[in-house]
Amino acid sequence: MSNNNSNYQPIFILPEDTKRTTGREAQRNNIAAAKAVAQTVRTTLGPKGMDKMIVDAAGDVIVTNDGVTILEEMQIEHPAAKMIVEVAKTQENIVGDGTTTAVVLAGELLKKAEDLLDQEIHPTVLARGYRLAEAQAQKILQSLGEKVSLDKEELLKNIAITAMTGKGAESNKDILAELILQAVKTVADKGRIQLEDIKVEIIVGESVEKSELVRGIVLDKERVHAAMPEQVENAKVALLDASLEIKNTEIDAKIQITDPMQLNLFLEQEEKTLRSMVETIAATGATVLFCQKGIDDLAQHFLAKKKILAVRRVKKSDMETLSRATGAKIVSNWKELNIGDLGTAGVVREEKVGQEEMILVEKCQNAKAVTLLVRGGTTHVAEEIKRAITDALGDIAAALKDGAVVAGAGAVEIELAKELRKYAGTLRGREQLAVQAFAEAMEVIPRTLAENAGLDPIDMLTQLRSAHDNGQTKAGVNVFTGGIMDAWAEGVIEPLKVKTLALSSAAEVAEMILRIDDVIMGKKQEMPRGNMDMGM
Ligand code: ADP
Ligand code: MG
Repeated sequence: MSNNNSNYQPIFILPEDTKRTTGREAQRNNIAAAKAVAQTVRTTLGPKGMDKMIVDAAGDVIVTNDGVTILEEMQIEHPAAKMIVEVAKTQENIVGDGTTTAVVLAGELLKKAEDLLDQEIHPTVLARGYRLAEAQAQKILQSLGEKVSLDKEELLKNIAITAMTGKGAESNKDILAELILQAVKTVADKGRIQLEDIKVEIIVGESVEKSELVRGIVLDKERVHAAMPEQVENAKVALLDASLEIKNTEIDAKIQITDPMQLNLFLEQEEKTLRSMVETIAATGATVLFCQKGIDDLAQHFLAKKKILAVRRVKKSDMETLSRATGAKIVSNWKELNIGDLGTAGVVREEKVGQEEMILVEKCQNAKAVTLLVRGGTTHVAEEIKRAITDALGDIAAALKDGAVVAGAGAVEIELAKELRKYAGTLRGREQLAVQAFAEAMEVIPRTLAENAGLDPIDMLTQLRSAHDNGQTKAGVNVFTGGIMDAWAEGVIEPLKVKTLALSSAAEVAEMILRIDDVIMGKKQEMPRGNMDMGM
């Protein structure tokens, strides 16, 4: 008998150390990983969400409530889990908010799918049902959108406040919302804003209420030489993205110095080159120089003599902002700089802001550039406030671009669930089950908002469902009183785009993960465990 068996030699089509899981096991493993990611950020959702403390390999500490920041810092390895992290990143890049929502939705869609898989419903049928549900959900969302525009100031402030609730900015949200509104109004062009026009700069060491809006650009830099002017009026601004140094490679170029005369000659040559760099720049009439790279000590000295205010190692993004604001062209070679490349600014000056010297570029040709100076007692506080403000700005930009907003606090999700259930009723068979599952998954948002606020989620959902059945389409979770509220009237407002994007990317990734029934891992990759220790 054993002889017979030896006829059935296993056939290896993959290298020996390849790990492979297939079928239900692969699916379970992937779903478990995706759910674990969702579970991790879930507790941060909403105004009563908790924060996470992340310590990276270098020992740096981040305290945050921001979904995408958490996931990026965690360095997740599991391939399916990474796909969920991608959802958060897309959400962050396109609208800048709603990252936790998107991830929690994706996790819940997969959890509901797992129940149906257990009932022997085929993953392709499920994926198709989810696709139908998603398309319908997008239509419903569009119908729920309310109009927003630049003149609706209260609404815009409420968008900012909603975005900041639960973040470190919470206690100063009114002051910050007002600053954000002013910034938005200053840079708005044809009713829209470009986020690049609003710079957010952090100053550590003072309280948040002291935050302010500067109409111009603030750089966390000093002028390179103490003999340079501290202030230049009617500045002619040059932007250079190359260094004002003699490159090392030029020195290395096989000069063999054999006697002191030659060394002197060489140094003289170097001085001459640096001098001619500065002279070329001064000849254009430039009075302020922003350099993206380094400036040699000797060049600094020559620049100071020419009364040019120079700043070095300016960030690329700041160079671009400066270019937009002053109208200057960024030039890559000092030899090519000419008068036509210069921009203008009413004043460029160095000033002590908080504990540090900063460079302020004000009264620019394009007055649309502003800087929000965010103050916070410590770096951790200031950084978290900056993240909250960035979310708020992203939300306002998205709302103005789309021209539509919806009621938050779970109101929109309950309405979606209700309408999707109706839609499921019009379908037959197993797809109906999938659409129903999708509808139920929407309720994870209000449920989590309630849970995070220490409320009874079942009780809350029952109340919300009946309010929506009675036509209160904007009823949401009141996380402060524990009851339900008219989210719109209470000013809990979010851009429609946050919801449409969260929904489409969550559905997309869920479908994609459902379709995978074979995981093949090449050499050297450890197969991650299905249930990771991330659940909190
Ligand atoms: P995300 O990363 O998804 O933006 P947040 O932690 O910012 O996660 O939470 C967003 C959720 O919190 C949204 O569903 C929003 O409607 C809700 N929310 C915001 N402010 C309030 C509030 N004052 N009351 C109830 N829910 C709120
Ligand atoms: Mg948010």
